[in-house]
Amino acid sequence: MSAIVAIVGRPNVGKSTLFNRLIKRRDAIVDEISGVTRDRHYGKTDWNGREFSVIDTGGYVVGSDDIFEQEIDKQVELALDEADAIIFVVDVATGVTGMDEEVAQLLRQVDKPIFMAVNKVDSAMRVADAAEFYALGLGDYYTISSINGSGTGELLDAVVEAL
Ligand code: GDP
Ligand code: MG
Repeated sequence: MSAIVAIVGRPNVGKSTLFNRLIKRRDAIVDEISGVTRDRHYGKTDWNGREFSVIDTGGYVVGSDDIFEQEIDKQVELALDEADAIIFVVDVATGVTGMDEEVAQLLRQVDKPIFMAVNKVDSAMRVADAAEFYALGLGDYYTISSINGSGTGELLDAVVEAL
């Protein structure tokens, strides 16, 4: 069985964009659980000769106010149970949010390799802005642009090293 890398983070940070870039082809599994459409995306890829599976954990659609709480819980639960490494995506365009802090707090209790990816760093002008994410207490981070691909190679180098 190949190693599993889970992509977690609050909505709209760019998890699915990163996922699609990593696997280049989308495989989706949709299942219905008590009114919640859970749309989990799995894909296989390889980097530096190492094959692994990627899970995009963000696809929850539910008509409830506590969607965010549920999503965070499920994502981290999934990451804890299934993943060998975790990519935690945050968004430099919005900066640190309360939801990022909640996810980070849960992830700090996870005894697995965690790679924080500060996404939407589309140009060098954004690199310095990423420093505010040190406040999440997860240490160093990778600046990436899931849209243009910059920085994703360095991120993947580190991720496969940990598998
Ligand atoms: P998710 O909810 O975390 O899965 O986020 P999505 O992948 O759906 O992306 C949310 C929005 O952010 C979309 O409009 C994306 O096009 C945009 N986005 C994702 N990655 C980047 C990036 O690297 N740079 C910029 N500028 N926008 C991005
Ligand atoms: Mg998504």
